[in-house]
Amino acid sequence: MILIYPPVVKPSEPPAGLAKLAGALRQAGVRFLLLDANLEGLYYLLEQPCPASDTWTKGAVRRRDKNLRFLKSRYSNESLPRYSRAVSDLNRILAAQGARGHARISLGDYEQQGLSPVKSADLLYGAIHPEKNPFYSYFAPRLTKLLEEENPTVVGLSINYLSQALCGFAMAGFLRKLSPKLRICMGGGLITSWLSSPIFSNPFAGLVDEMIAGPGEEALLRLCGREREPGAAPSYRELPLDDYLSPGHILPYSASSGCCWRRCAFCPEAAEESRYRPTPPVRVASDLSSLVSETAPSLIHLLDSALSPALLGALADQPLGVPWYGFARATTPLTDKDFCLELRRSGCTMLKLGIESGDQEVLDALSKGIALDDVARVLKNLKEAGIATYCYLLFGTPAETEDAARRTLKFTVRNSPLIDFLNVAVFNLPAWSPAAAKLRIRDFYPGDLALYRDFVHPHGWERAAVRHFLDREFKRNAAVAAILRRDPPTFTSNHAPFFVGA
Ligand code: SF4
Repeated sequence: MILIYPPVVKPSEPPAGLAKLAGALRQAGVRFLLLDANLEGLYYLLEQPCPASDTWTKGAVRRRDKNLRFLKSRYSNESLPRYSRAVSDLNRILAAQGARGHARISLGDYEQQGLSPVKSADLLYGAIHPEKNPFYSYFAPRLTKLLEEENPTVVGLSINYLSQALCGFAMAGFLRKLSPKLRICMGGGLITSWLSSPIFSNPFAGLVDEMIAGPGEEALLRLCGREREPGAAPSYRELPLDDYLSPGHILPYSASSGCCWRRCAFCPEAAEESRYRPTPPVRVASDLSSLVSETAPSLIHLLDSALSPALLGALADQPLGVPWYGFARATTPLTDKDFCLELRRSGCTMLKLGIESGDQEVLDALSKGIALDDVARVLKNLKEAGIATYCYLLFGTPAETEDAARRTLKFTVRNSPLIDFLNVAVFNLPAWSPAAAKLRIRDFYPGDLALYRDFVHPHGWERAAVRHFLDREFKRNAAVAAILRRDPPTFTSNHAPFFVGA
């Protein structure tokens, strides 16, 4: 079996989903191979002769190796300008390579002119014409050789983001032509979201033999005639850990699937009704301790949608000996300063907090289950404990008004000395959330696989006005702008912990 991670995703850390599958396959004695085609494909494009001849691109090509080395070295606040230049140089080369195939490629995104990753007809077109994909000259010889050498019966593609879909389908189409009898499976976060749509009727039969929702271990083992044995830890030894673009190796680990809160209106976790499946904290501790001794990471990235209070408690009790970060809810137990100090001692270097709004009525309407007083206390506790914060704000939710958005601005400014990084987003309405049924949906066809829909805002706070407010007012506020300037470009939260002394 061969498992593939298609381009394009930020190449800062190995794919956790593949490592999880690898652990289960290894334990069941299945012969397999992992291919991080994202990492290999991006390196391939960076190393090809560059078609553009302007001064900046030529300079970017000259500086390429130096920049790649820099992104693997230690960063500090002072090195952010140097870091930004390195990222923008590398993106410049990728943009020039992508332009040949009418695509926009960067270290974190992929768009192909005229093809949409949420239209099944476009994905099938990309599968029928894989030679039009800018990564074709990388993956065609690579996959041909792998199939000859390994002779697999099953190939799985892990597609988690829209930025992977077009390349993933181009690779599937190429494999199908190369080996019509090959069993091709697709899984990952994006495929799971598609399968959870009530109107999904598989348009990919004939190309993809099996679309897998949720954790794929059982389905893959079933294809090999094996049963899943409990207790398999993820395995990273099949992945090129030294090649990822980060200072040292980041170990991603998921201690649960779903979300321990799962009540926020309009959150895809709630809309897709995914069950919350936590791994017992004792198992998490033993998995992490063996992975740490096996892979010697410089940072652990906990991938859970929200770290549960039970897990946070276990992490505080049993320090991992390596800096770590992840998403948490801005409520108990973080309202207790002593607990935050314990978390810091356990290696917690940064917490990502979904604050969404600085208006309590909006938070209540979203069922966030957090109080603004608590959020302010959590921010203060974390700052005093030496834990950085990466805060997420969401504008244009159905309950928000322009006045409420201004209250969010005031809240952010008031707490700005306590906020290290900010992510500011405009609300997207998940197509199948129960709450969406109460809104007037606009007649607009983004694609049969679209996960979001356009709606008429109940208070007239439409996307254009929200964007205008963000660009002209929110982001121009001096306190907000100073926080936004600290964000590492392209890699954002994936590299932010390295800028706060991880
Ligand atoms: S806490 Fe985060 S992941 Fe969980 S339901 Fe709310 S928004 Fe979704």
